[in-house]
Amino acid sequence: MTRRKLVVGNWKMNGSRAANAELLAGLKAAGPWVGEVAVCSPAPYLGEVALSLQGEAIHWGAQDVSAFESGAYTGEVSAAMLAEFGCHYVIVGHSERRAYHAESDQLVADKAKAVLAHRMTPIVCVGETLAEREAGQTAEVVKRQLSAVIHTLKSCISQVVVAYEPVWAIGTGKTASPEQAQEVHALLRAQLQAATEHAGDMKLLYGGSVKADNAADLFSRADIDGGLIGGASLKAVDFAAICRAAG
Ligand code: PEP
Repeated sequence: MTRRKLVVGNWKMNGSRAANAELLAGLKAAGPWVGEVAVCSPAPYLGEVALSLQGEAIHWGAQDVSAFESGAYTGEVSAAMLAEFGCHYVIVGHSERRAYHAESDQLVADKAKAVLAHRMTPIVCVGETLAEREAGQTAEVVKRQLSAVIHTLKSCISQVVVAYEPVWAIGTGKTASPEQAQEVHALLRAQLQAATEHAGDMKLLYGGSVKADNAADLFSRADIDGGLIGGASLKAVDFAAICRAAG
């Protein structure tokens, strides 16, 4: 099974109109790549990013979405609004949202459902904390997180991208070794196989301190189909090098 690699930049709460323009210009000049590339910007910049990427082989996405369709949810952005601008991917369940906004497994699953209902692709993040890994609970935690999404989406689970992001590796400079990452990806793939006959076509990304010098090794593993990149997606040269490593 050959799956086309996917590399997604998660800008988190970084950037400015000027910095984004410089970053996107650098990326456009550095491409095209063999794999698929996408960037997820903060919400206020999405429209401008969409305009800048028109006609380019770089997709764009959002970092979060409301689980609700519309109404009295001050500060929230709906899936319909994102879809109206041509949004392709929406990250849901990032560990920073789970930790700082108390997002539950079920809320993350509901967000993924809202994204699919508007024909976009959710990137569902799962991952264990350092304490959970040290307690030998990695498999249990990621399976529980994915299981809520499988249960909610049923056969539509085949339409999501899953990102394994060990919390202890995010923004810390500590990357899971390719062996550690592959081990968890294989578990996730097996769990998906039990839920859908299309599990072999699904993309499983690794995220957590991916850099140009470790990307190729990670992406060469059997069940690692690309990466979700935080810090290293903010500089065009660094992100472009990671995108090349997925080629
Ligand atoms: C992320 O936030 O999704 C991430 C993987 O961050 P970093 O690459 O900075 O560890």
